[in-house]
Amino acid sequence: MTPAERVKAALTGTDFDVYPVINPTSVAIIESMEQVRAFFPSAHTNSMEMAELAAAGHDLYGFDSVAPYFSVHLEAAAMGVQVDWNDALHTPVITKRPLKSIDDFIMPKSFLQRLEFQRLLKAIEILKKKYSGKVPVIGKVVGPWTLTYNLYGVENLVLDTILEPEKAKDFINEISTIPMEFAKAQFDAGADMITWADHVTSDLVSAKIHEEFLLPIHQRAAKELQKAGPVILHICGNIMDRIDCIANTGFKMFHMDSRNDIADVVKRTESKITITGCINNPVTLAQGTPIMVRKEVMANIQSGIRLISPECALPTSVSGKNLKCLVETAHRTKGDF
Ligand SMILES: [Zn+2]
Repeated sequence: MTPAERVKAALTGTDFDVYPVINPTSVAIIESMEQVRAFFPSAHTNSMEMAELAAAGHDLYGFDSVAPYFSVHLEAAAMGVQVDWNDALHTPVITKRPLKSIDDFIMPKSFLQRLEFQRLLKAIEILKKKYSGKVPVIGKVVGPWTLTYNLYGVENLVLDTILEPEKAKDFINEISTIPMEFAKAQFDAGADMITWADHVTSDLVSAKIHEEFLLPIHQRAAKELQKAGPVILHICGNIMDRIDCIANTGFKMFHMDSRNDIADVVKRTESKITITGCINNPVTLAQGTPIMVRKEVMANIQSGIRLISPECALPTSVSGKNLKCLVETAHRTKGDF
């Protein structure tokens, strides 16, 4: 099977040869940057380097997908937030936000023409051409919750949801135009799937606010975007108190963090959404041995995970040895449907 056939089969619950390994978020590491000579920070903003570094995930380590989106600050930067793209070892950080109040925001016309968006679209085009449908190209957007707090500050946003809920809701709704349009443009550029990262995690926001403010937007995104291809919802952290909300979005996949009860989530959501993940990054992949990686991949499969993936964007210090072991373990295990 080609990686694309394998991923599709695992996603639709039909027979597949061996367990697929995908990367809904970044698998760029120092070692891959050195091998393909594409480094952060320029690989955040140069289409050719984005494509080359993304291709390394498949070409060097055997992942069944490639993904050229590396920093959750891409959209914020396009919308005028000052970002320090940092270096190969450190993730980008926001240094200045132009927005002091929700009222100051005006949705710019033709925002998709901005360089930051265009560069990612170009990288997707390059990858689509390179793999011509055999290896799925995964695009990515940050959802309106994450984008709003990147534009406006997380404390301000959380406060607004309590003090001025209707206003905050309208604002989040308005902002959702950006990921919707950006995701559509990525599908048009050749993306086979899109990760929709919205960090409505339980240490930041209650399940009730998640359901009230974000669920309707997620349902709309699932309905509209999935005419073009599957969308993978990504939320880091603990989500045990909002599983039903996630399962009811209509998204095809949920990219989950290893700190959740994996077997329980798979069992409870099986008929509605496919769970992917959930290999631990900071302990297993960044500090563990290949034996630990192998054990965790097998435990994931035994918990009912059909599409294995690291739980979130990898720390760039992860070793290529551990990544190879992650992929090889899954690829040595036959799908038994
Ligand atoms: Zn994450």
